[in-house]
Amino acid sequence: MKTVKYNIIHQNILTWYEEHGRVTLPWRNTNSPYEIYLSEIMLQQTQVKTVLERFYFQFLEKFPTLKDVADVAVDDVLKAWEGLGYYTRARNLHKTAIETKGILPNNAEALEKLSGIGKSTAHAVACFAFDEALPILDANVKRILYRFFAVKSCNDKKLWELAYKLYDKDNTYIYNQTMMDIGSAICTHKNPLCNTCPFESLCQGKENPLLYPEKKKKQKKPIRKRTLVIYHKENRYVLAQNSERLLSGLWAFKQEEDFKVNDYMTELGEFKQHYTHFTLEASVVLLSCEEQENYFTIDEIHDLALSGADRKALALLEMHCQ
Ligand code: SF4
Repeated sequence: MKTVKYNIIHQNILTWYEEHGRVTLPWRNTNSPYEIYLSEIMLQQTQVKTVLERFYFQFLEKFPTLKDVADVAVDDVLKAWEGLGYYTRARNLHKTAIETKGILPNNAEALEKLSGIGKSTAHAVACFAFDEALPILDANVKRILYRFFAVKSCNDKKLWELAYKLYDKDNTYIYNQTMMDIGSAICTHKNPLCNTCPFESLCQGKENPLLYPEKKKKQKKPIRKRTLVIYHKENRYVLAQNSERLLSGLWAFKQEEDFKVNDYMTELGEFKQHYTHFTLEASVVLLSCEEQENYFTIDEIHDLALSGADRKALALLEMHCQ
């Protein structure tokens, strides 16, 4: 049964979405479960603008269907994902494509069992592609719920309870899309615009929204100092495929810790690369070596999937070779 108490909010949301909803977003104008799922995965760690301008259409052009993803090696998917980061998403997308033989199941319960699909993503795909009336709980929605119910801190179980309490079972598609729009444009981290928010009339946190959720003390990111050693024989360079979880499957130059640079090497430069849990401070050196496996020319390296750090090292190498 519909919660009468929130009728006014649900009505405000319908009006707000009609006037301000981002209705032109491509994934809101398709019935394709694959296109909706792809957008959900890309948007998990990346802003809408970046996904729209650089990745979504390009990926779909390369892989128009999920079956096309299933039919290629994971290397090809990683290459198409290059620059988007959080590569586990690309590996899971490939696994899911294979597991489902290119056809996604049509309900949240089955979607949630697939690689890399958590409860909120399963609900989003089930709601947007298959009209299942389920709430979502991404980072933006969590912030709205903390503030709306004036809760400073709680676990995900409690947040799901709040999500179920507030959502509109009759217009779930619009409700969920609006939650995402409000979270990114109105109920923002630093400057919530309560006066223009459809939740305002019943929001318990509106007097002082920045109190919710309680801020956790930010830990300073550790710094990892490494030397990227580019081994080469004439104009061919050595790379190996990464097996570390974070960047598994991507090609990389050799990374060394506590590496002593000597006169036999050429120093190419330095760079920083920021990751979620640490910052890499790298210096790059070029070192001649005997024949090894996996030698590539610079043109061939451009066809491999590289991490952001290795792409920066490649840029230094190219500058040196000019
Ligand atoms: S009224 Fe303010 S605090 Fe409450 S949900 Fe809207 S923007 Fe956030």
